[in-house]
Amino acid sequence: TKKMRLDKLLANMGRGTRSEVRRAVKQGRVSVDGMIVKDSGLILDPGTALVLFDDEQVLYRETIYLMLNKPQGVVSATEDKRDRTVIDLLDPEDGVLQPFPVGRLDKDTEGLLLLTNDGRMSHELLSPRKHVPKIYEADVLGDVGDADVQAFSAGVTLDDGYETMPAQLTVRERVSGENGVLSRITLTIHEGKFHQVKRMFQSVGKEVVYLRRVSMGPLHLDETLALGEYRELTDSELATLV
Ligand code: URA
Repeated sequence: TKKMRLDKLLANMGRGTRSEVRRAVKQGRVSVDGMIVKDSGLILDPGTALVLFDDEQVLYRETIYLMLNKPQGVVSATEDKRDRTVIDLLDPEDGVLQPFPVGRLDKDTEGLLLLTNDGRMSHELLSPRKHVPKIYEADVLGDVGDADVQAFSAGVTLDDGYETMPAQLTVRERVSGENGVLSRITLTIHEGKFHQVKRMFQSVGKEVVYLRRVSMGPLHLDETLALGEYRELTDSELATLV
């Protein structure tokens, strides 16, 4: 790893702003390889130095991979003039490495969203040529039936003329709601056009009233995450991606 200043390492690892961490260093709260250090400008190798902040080890890393269970009402962007973004849901320490969402979910869509600062991985997952499967669960007004399953597996034409790739549709159950029958479905798509799931149902005259993503490639939504909660990917999840 490249050498860097102690204050930069501490700030990058979310221990505070540059001036906050400098103050902490002056106060003797930081040690490097067993010795209290009072010079924030100390140059060290972040990959090998043992750095303690208030007696807690500061582990160095450059990449971050987070799995978020996105709630409705937040947008999948890093900044927005009007709306709260998925980045606003993160602890400040996790925002320091500047993760961004891998692809987009609509404001009213819930579920699996990967956040990372790893541009290469993001690119791989989103590349149109890779056809990474994405699995969605939706509630659709009306009776989704065999004709729809057939249509989706053959490919449907969206409102802009785009022909979708074969997609796998299954109906999990039908329930009667306030507005008549509601079909709970699972849909696997292998591409990611704008509003794709909603527009596929539109093309067969049906309306999606609830949508969530449950998987993206080898990643599956951790059902123990409540809406708005997130966690780091585990080593084995990461291994499936890189
Ligand atoms: N398809 C949609 O219509 N919306 C999403 O958020 C994701 C897929």
